[in-house]
Amino acid sequence: MSRVKCHCGGRPSCRLCGGTRYFLYEPGPRGWLPFACPSCDGTGWRREPGLDTEHCPTCRGEGTVDPADPPLSLIVTIRKVLFGG
Ligand SMILES: [Zn+2]
Ligand SMILES: [Zn+2]
Repeated sequence: MSRVKCHCGGRPSCRLCGGTRYFLYEPGPRGWLPFACPSCDGTGWRREPGLDTEHCPTCRGEGTVDPADPPLSLIVTIRKVLFGG
């Protein structure tokens, strides 16, 4: 299992990471494959009561999540942890 950074940035409403900003991914026999986004059911859009329809933050409106393509900020985060920013 690998810990992958979620694109949503830690939204409690995210069904992929539940607001923890990371989700666990187990690469299959064919490697790291994109999967349908659980937050928007693969539609790319989120509709929440009381909120305007918006691009799904979990998949950035793409409808699928590519675990091999984590946010670039991951590199920044690692750099911050290792080198103090
Ligand atoms: Zn998330
Ligand atoms: Zn989505």
